[in-house]
Amino acid sequence: MKKVYSHENLALLHTAKGLLEINGISCFVKNEYHASGGHVGFGSIPIELWVQDDADAETAVSLLERELSNSSDRPMWTCSKCNEENDGSFETCWNCQRENTDTE
Ligand SMILES: [Zn+2]
Repeated sequence: MKKVYSHENLALLHTAKGLLEINGISCFVKNEYHASGGHVGFGSIPIELWVQDDADAETAVSLLERELSNSSDRPMWTCSKCNEENDGSFETCWNCQRENTDTE
């Protein structure tokens, strides 16, 4: 087993996990329990994504780099309709589906 990714944002971790799973890589999340129990907000304990098979680690890392690198450059944005915060990788609001008009 090998750690391939870690982030404080649980939603992002699950995006990463889903990405590996659709590519046929068995993986699991560590520390999720701590992150969701007790502390509100980000930053206490980074959540970790691990692959079951070490042989998948290299593929997993390059996959995640390719798929997640775009989003990490983009800042969070706030929906002008419902005021929900959205990850920079989302083009439309997760809550009300309004398009992000803050960036071009
Ligand atoms: Zn919205």
